[in-house]
Amino acid sequence: MSLQLVDDLSRAIGSDEIVPYFQPLLELRSGRLAGFEVLARWHHPDRGVILPDEFIPFAEGAGLIASLTEGMLLQAFSAAAEIPDHLGLSVNISPFQLRDHSLPAQIASAARRARFSPQRLTVEITESALIRNLELAREIADALKSMGVRLAIDDFGTGYSSLKHLKALPFDEIKVDGSFVRSMITSRESRKIAAAVVGLGQSLGLTTVAEGIEEKAQADMLFYLGCDIGQGWLYGKPVPPESIREAISGNAFLHLQELPTSPLSLNRAMSLDALPGHRLAQLQAIYDGVPVGLCFLDRNLRYVSINKRLAEMNGYSVDAHLGRHVSEILPDVFPILEAQMRRALRGEAVPGFEIDRTIVSKPEPERTVLISYHPARDEADEVVGVSVSVVDITELKRNERARLASEEHYRTAMDLNPQVPWTADPEGMILDAGPRWEELTGLSMEETLNEGWTKALHPEDLEATMTAWKESLRSGNPVDVEYRIRLRDGSWRWMRARGAAHRGLKGEIVRWYGTVEDIDQHRKVAEALQKSQARIEEMERELREARPKPRKPSRLSKQIRKLRPILSE
Ligand code: C2E
Ligand code: CA
Ligand code: CA
Repeated sequence: MSLQLVDDLSRAIGSDEIVPYFQPLLELRSGRLAGFEVLARWHHPDRGVILPDEFIPFAEGAGLIASLTEGMLLQAFSAAAEIPDHLGLSVNISPFQLRDHSLPAQIASAARRARFSPQRLTVEITESALIRNLELAREIADALKSMGVRLAIDDFGTGYSSLKHLKALPFDEIKVDGSFVRSMITSRESRKIAAAVVGLGQSLGLTTVAEGIEEKAQADMLFYLGCDIGQGWLYGKPVPPESIREAISGNAFLHLQELPTSPLSLNRAMSLDALPGHRLAQLQAIYDGVPVGLCFLDRNLRYVSINKRLAEMNGYSVDAHLGRHVSEILPDVFPILEAQMRRALRGEAVPGFEIDRTIVSKPEPERTVLISYHPARDEADEVVGVSVSVVDITELKRNERARLASEEHYRTAMDLNPQVPWTADPEGMILDAGPRWEELTGLSMEETLNEGWTKALHPEDLEATMTAWKESLRSGNPVDVEYRIRLRDGSWRWMRARGAAHRGLKGEIVRWYGTVEDIDQHRKVAEALQKSQARIEEMERELREARPKPRKPSRLSKQIRKLRPILSE
């Protein structure tokens, strides 16, 4: 910058040629606008817009920085009348000014004059050139904080004493430098540094901000890392005061669509209102509480973490696992497992496979476990290890075997029984019937299933049977009906069908079980009896009418009386 320009600069500061521009800051989690960073622009009458990197160093060198800052603050605070109260403003303060005792008073006075609440203000301090006299800087920082102003450490990671400053001053916010953000997709190192800065901020309880976000992929990755706030051309370039309104309404709509997509939604749910420390404690509780063995292996198949459950299954303490190779802990089964683990390391998910192994904590000699391997990836999709889940399914297998055996038993019983057993689902669809049904009716099993069995019914009995069956299905009460079925030879035969509901743990009907019994003989005898009884009664009546008031019972009526109990049996 020429001497001429330095002259121009001192004039410019007096004449408000130096103008604040506003760049949106967005909450990455919600896509909501969180505030603006104020960036200086010099509208030079001959040279057009000059960027701050060109004139700020000269303002600092020429002792003009305090008045430049003051002008910027006043204009920015006035322009903030356009900005809703819940949105903040971040301003850049030269590290030189952290040697100036009057800085807090200057800020307070500018805020008062423009009726701007200092509580909405964040002061950004670039750490690269920072602060020779840390004690003085600390006093000034404390004074700012007591006004309610927040402090941010800017360009974090580019200076040589970042950590020292982070420790010395009461920062609220840490800004990941744009240089890391811009190269984080292509450079593993940048990505790891960005991740480390975000992680450091989180563990110190600071708001984390990433600047220089130009692409959605960068925003997604930063969000995945847990970064709170984003800033960059993706969301908007710095705009002059007259365009603030537009920037606010533009962001309100745009960023609902800009939200990171699916694989990150879990992370979003987890980050809701939880500080990193809480989140970790919650995860640890889940990790240790689930009835499933879990662990994480690094690329060399060493235990990075393991939950209590799996440690117990393996017969060593949690600590004894950490850093050890799987083959050291499970020498007997490692040869079986290795190939599957390698598949996961190549990026393939290996869903549950069963193996039999001895579990140290269980008295039985062998247990069956279901193991799954899943590749674990970092924010750039690189496989960094394998997550493992192990479920003890011994009981499950045992129950399944028992169930199979009892089903087999039932089936045998069905085949032997002269009655026809049947089962139906809760909707009344026949699922199974004994082979005798086929013998009797000539209907194959396929024809019989569902509602096929009704084909064998006598048309006159169909309605009553279905009414009774539907009533039972509705009420859950046992069913008991009699109907005729057509035999292979075309004749009709009386049957009695009975059945009852079998209920599950919650009282819900899971099956109907019943039998169909041949009652044709009974029925015919009963009918004959009924007929003869009717005939006898008729004869009795005829006799009474023929001989009114007999003194003694006739021989016939005596015989009838004797016969009666036998007949009505
Ligand atoms: P900074 O504080 O790190 O500001 C961020 C810089 O990144 C700004 O440059 C901004 O325009 C730019 N930027 C924002 N998003 C993107 C993006 O997506 N891609 C790219 N390539 N760049 C982006 P700018 O405005 O040129 O400011 C440069 C530096 O000048 C600032 O760096 C800050 O340290 C300093 N500065 C700006 N205004 C002031 C001021 O009023 N006072 C003081 N003391 N320093 C200021
Ligand atoms: Ca800044
Ligand atoms: Ca910066």
